[in-house]
Amino acid sequence: VGVDFGGTNVKLGLVDRRGRVQCTQTLSTRFVRQPAVLIDAVAQAVQQLARARGISAAQLAGIGIGAPGIIDVRRGLVHELINVSGWNDVPLASRLAKRLRCRCLVDNDANLVTVGEWRFGAGRGSSELVCFTWGTGIGGGLIVRGQLYRGARDAAGELGHMVIAPGGRRCACGDRGCLEAQVGTSAIVAEVRAAVRRGGTRLRRLVHETDGRITPELVSRAARQGDRAARAIWARLGRWMGIGVANVVNLLNPDCVVIGGGVAKAWPYFAASLRASVREHAMTVPRRTARLVKASLGPHAGMIGGAVLVWESA
Ligand SMILES: [Zn+2]
Repeated sequence: VGVDFGGTNVKLGLVDRRGRVQCTQTLSTRFVRQPAVLIDAVAQAVQQLARARGISAAQLAGIGIGAPGIIDVRRGLVHELINVSGWNDVPLASRLAKRLRCRCLVDNDANLVTVGEWRFGAGRGSSELVCFTWGTGIGGGLIVRGQLYRGARDAAGELGHMVIAPGGRRCACGDRGCLEAQVGTSAIVAEVRAAVRRGGTRLRRLVHETDGRITPELVSRAARQGDRAARAIWARLGRWMGIGVANVVNLLNPDCVVIGGGVAKAWPYFAASLRASVREHAMTVPRRTARLVKASLGPHAGMIGGAVLVWESA
């Protein structure tokens, strides 16, 4: 079973050996606020998923959990969760393992998206891969020499906090001009507000129709309808993203760069400027080596990655 802690819910999926999600369960994030409550809810959901396939939880190969936070992978410990208080050094893996009598592993959520896309998605066959998860923030994962690269303290791959615009937008991490600050959801909202103030017609109408709820989907809809302001926003975001991609391409010489996360759905609107920006900023050889692709597993990537984590560690 792969478990994916998201911003709005917790998704669980029973995954088979070929990376196919057999059945899923979704829990509301209100469970996430208290570790004990969450562990209870996840345990019950896992038992239901197993029962639906006529087995017990103890007969699963294991449970792989992706959580957005600082994780001690070897000890299965969640040091802290991003944007959720109350999670201080929670031994999530051992508590669930005891409860369900099966193997449990925890890793950073973006790492699991990365291994999912690498084994079963857009990055199949790659041995040096970089994955960006573009959503509210930007996460990342690195496959180096055919293995997930975690760094000295499991904190590698924080691609969202590369500084690409010194003195730029304020980031949730406290710095300015991080990739996440320049292209994350809050940057998109700020760009739309500025465009509406300047008088972008279709975009303004769409924002009014949705009671001011600005989302990346809304900007895509406006772009699809030919709105020039929306297209310009995606072009700008693509350029910023391209600087981030070029930096890791120069650093690691990957054979594949995957762009995933919810915002990757807007690929048709930012891909051209992203490619142009990579061309401009990356060195020739690493740039030519790197296949730049959109993620293919969609919202299932993290769950599938959780299952991969379990199998690869067996
Ligand atoms: Zn930052």
